[in-house]
Order: sequence, then C-alpha cells, then structure tokens
Amino acid sequence: PAENEALMEWQPLEAAVETATGQPFRVRDSRSMGGGCINRAILVSDVSRSFFVKLNAASLLPMFEAEAAGLDELRSADAIRVPDAVCTGASDGNAWLVMEYIPMRGPADARLAGEQLALMHRKQADAFGWRLDNTIGSTPQPNDWMEEWGAFLREQRLGFQLELAARNGYGGRLQSEGEKLLASLDQLIDHAPVPSLLHGDLWGGNIGYDDGGNPVIFDPAVYYGDREADLAMTELFGGFGRAFYDAYTDAGPLDRGYAVSKTLYNLYHILNHLNLFGGGYAGQAQGMIDRLLAEIG
Ligand code: ADP
Repeated sequence: PAENEALMEWQPLEAAVETATGQPFRVRDSRSMGGGCINRAILVSDVSRSFFVKLNAASLLPMFEAEAAGLDELRSADAIRVPDAVCTGASDGNAWLVMEYIPMRGPADARLAGEQLALMHRKQADAFGWRLDNTIGSTPQPNDWMEEWGAFLREQRLGFQLELAARNGYGGRLQSEGEKLLASLDQLIDHAPVPSLLHGDLWGGNIGYDDGGNPVIFDPAVYYGDREADLAMTELFGGFGRAFYDAYTDAGPLDRGYAVSKTLYNLYHILNHLNLFGGGYAGQAQGMIDRLLAEIG
C-alpha cells in the first residue's frame, strides 16, 4: 500500500527528528494517510513513536515553515489542542513538515470547541497581520502588520485575491464591482475589532477530536484579525452545530453586524476557492459581492 513512500530516502528526516526530539528515530513503517487538499500525508513509525508527515515539492519548504510557526503560535494561546510541530526540512526533491501524530477518533464535543476557540481569540496583538506571510490552501497570504482592520482587509485579503483572480482571467463585472466594494468597505465594518489570534482556515475539515474528546485544530493560516472572520469560516461549509455557537457567544457576544461581516469575511475564502479551483465559485463570489453592495445601498 505504501510503495511510493518506501522509495523515499528517510535518513534526512530521521536525523531532523532526532535533533528536534533528542531521541534516535528510524522509520520502520510508513503508510499513506491519503492527504488533504494540498499535500500528501504519511504516518511514519518506529517501534515506539509515530509522526504525521506532510510532503510536498521542495520549493514549498517556506509554506511548511510558516505552517509550523503557525501551529506554535496557536499553541502559545494555551486554549485548544494543536499538534506539536516537530521539524521541517527538504531532501530528495521533497519538503516535509513532521508533526506529532494525534489519532482523532474521539467523540465530537462542539461545546468544548466553542469555549476553547473563544479563549484562543482572547490572545491579541497590537496590530492586524502576523510576523510571517503564509498560505491559505496553496495561495500566498500576505500578513504585513497594519493598524487598521479595514485597510488590512482591503489590501491584504480581498484586494489581493481580486488581483489574483484578474490574473487568472476573471475580469469584467467581478472586478468592477469588486473595486466598488473595496472602495466602500469601511461602511460594512460596523465595529472596531481588536487583533485576535485566528486559525485563519477554520472549516470543518481542519478540526478533529482526540481520543479523549478534546478538540484539535490543524492546517492553519494564522494571523491576527477580527475573531468574527474565524467564526464566519466555520459556517462556510456546513457549520459546527448549535452547541458550538452557544458556547462561543456565551464567552463573548458577537457584534450586531455579524450577518454582514460574515459574508464579507467569507468572500475572501470564496475568492480563494475561485483562484484555486475555478468554475462555479465565480458565480458564488459575484452573488456575495452583489449582496454586500446592496447593503451599502
Ligand atoms: P492539507 O494541508 O493537505 O489540507 P491537513 O493538514 O488538512 O492537510 O491534513 C489532512 C488530514 O490529515 C486532516 O483532515 C486530518 O484528518 C489528518 N491530520 C492532520 N494533521 C494530523 C496530525 N497531526 N495527526 C493526525 N492526523 C492529522
């Protein structure tokens, strides 16, 4: 089943794990864990330890370095379980990120996830952005620090994706109305968010529950931003259930304008999906822009 993985030269990865953990490690078994949308995933084990390894082309090492730093940043909030990032490296044409392996077979506890996410969002920075640029899916995500949330959203989130869409051939009404939206963005932000630590890509595929039932979040696109952006994304592909939102809002109610900011924040992810996957996302993005422009009147 894991023939391809068996051909990989494990020595550089073994040496990096040994340096990071202070204990020798020799791959005795490697099995493909399929993979997410972007990377290949492999479980590597010796007699006593297992690690979850993400693999991609060597040129993508900076993507894995930023992911590892993002996992560290989330863990520093001490609020919700995050896999430990063990080491990153590149060899043999592959870049890799070695993580703690966390079997996720536990029962879902949406209430606990809501409570812990609210706690994580209490960790704040002095400005919007982060110390590293990273990726959302495989798309670059710029994180230059900015004082104003509206400006950050305009330049480094929506404007960035719209420009990418133009380069991908999505011009016309999407661009002209997109520009209108960017010009009047401030009218849609009815509150003054503080820069909260965000997972950044928190859809249902990036949360699980460990064997003890504790929530685990992974595959982040970390930055400091409006906490409602994380919450909006949880609703984009199906929602996390009533108990999750009740627990989250018990810990700190949302602003009244959340219904509008939800569309605004999720437009970023739909534009990213358009840029990654094309097709039907163009119509969805256009519909969201229309609704937002109608709010401005
Ligand atoms: P991608 O970046 O390719 O989307 P993910 O990080 O989302 O990959 O991981 C793909 C899948 O692997 C996840 O849906 C999850 O089930 C599982 N997974 C991710 N990280 C771990 C981990 N540290 N331990 C165990 N399973 C994991």
